Amino acid sequence: MMGVEGRLQGMDTERNNSPRERPIYLDNHATTPCDPRVLAAMLPYFTEHFGNPHSRNHAYGWQAEEAVELAREQIAAIIGAEPREIVFTSGATESNNLAIKGVAGFYRDKRDHVITVATEHKCVLESCRFLERQGFAVTVLPVGPNGLIDLAELEATLTERTVLVSVMAANNEIGVLQPIAEIGALCRQRGIFFHTDAAQAVGKIPLDVRAMNIDLMSISGHKLYGPKGIGVLFVRRRPRVRLQAQLSGGEQERGMRAGTLATPLCVGLGEACRIAAAEMADEADRLRRLRDRLLTGITERLPAVTLNGDALRRLPGNLNLSFGFVEGEGLITGLTEIAVSSGSACTSASVEPSYVLRAIGVDAELAFASLRVGLGRFTTEHDIQAAADHIVATVNRLRQDSPLWAMHREGIDLTALSGR
Ligand SMILES: *Cc1c(COP(=O)(O)O)cnc(C)c1O
Repeated sequence: MMGVEGRLQGMDTERNNSPRERPIYLDNHATTPCDPRVLAAMLPYFTEHFGNPHSRNHAYGWQAEEAVELAREQIAAIIGAEPREIVFTSGATESNNLAIKGVAGFYRDKRDHVITVATEHKCVLESCRFLERQGFAVTVLPVGPNGLIDLAELEATLTERTVLVSVMAANNEIGVLQPIAEIGALCRQRGIFFHTDAAQAVGKIPLDVRAMNIDLMSISGHKLYGPKGIGVLFVRRRPRVRLQAQLSGGEQERGMRAGTLATPLCVGLGEACRIAAAEMADEADRLRRLRDRLLTGITERLPAVTLNGDALRRLPGNLNLSFGFVEGEGLITGLTEIAVSSGSACTSASVEPSYVLRAIGVDAELAFASLRVGLGRFTTEHDIQAAADHIVATVNRLRQDSPLWAMHREGIDLTALSGR
């Protein structure tokens, strides 16, 4: 029988696009490929079992509903929730919007303060900005040089007016894991709701909404080898969290999210969670070994490379590295054999250094010369060896052309020269 990798490559050859012609995929924080087992589970629900899961009058509806409810159980199981606490959405962006705007909107007559963190995903930060324009007070906590928040600082920020704290479980750029259980305990003591964006964490590290006192959790299908266009918001029932629906329409999802459920996508996310739960421990070990091999494969051969984010409290498949004495643009265009993300983000107006790297104190120039490497389920040992060789060769080549690198090698103190 062909393994999953073989099947993935098989799909490539059918499209006449051999994997060798494409760069090695190391951008699994941006998105993950849909696992072929997930695709297989979804397919019948596009065609044969096409019923509307909300149709109560016939077998087409019942069959679709049964599949959706199984998916709800599989998703609930991976985070220690109950199926009734799972609300399907279109993705983590919608889940984050619903959690933040929905909870703040529902309780606004009683409390009007929201706390989040500078390194959150844009959709969390923008949802909080939206609330600010509506008259809410918003605190954006800084992070330390390791990317983690200071719990004492969070505690000092909580007030009688605070309704919600939103802190992500794992960062999508630097992979750091925030102290979720500790934050949950602090919030629970004071009756403040705790939301966590766990798009990067679910299926990668163990999470338990009960043990960690999480009230709301966002999940994204395409970050854990499921389909794009589906996500979940976990909404706790005891103690009960209430929220304002953001879409007007039917009473689907217990009134929290109107619209006909996308049965195939729900099924896919359920299967993705089932697989991730079964394979998580072994897969995390495998990724950690490959990741550490990649890191040493680079740093043992290249000087002036720094690891961004806490070295230990991070996702098993994440590396974020800054390369001194190379120029960011040259770095990303030079790395033709691997697909990774750079430390810059294109806004409509310009190219900006990553705000996450800026928040941990990386200077703008070094932020541009940074790479986010995301290993995943289909990353092989061969991929890692090839990626390490390619990165080392590319950085060496770029540094050969760099006058700053030559001066550095001759022992000239560049910071003194630039007057910094
Ligand atoms: C990808 C991601 C999102 C957005 O998820 P979508 O399902 O693509 O909307 C939100 N937060 C984090 C941390 C992510 O990595």
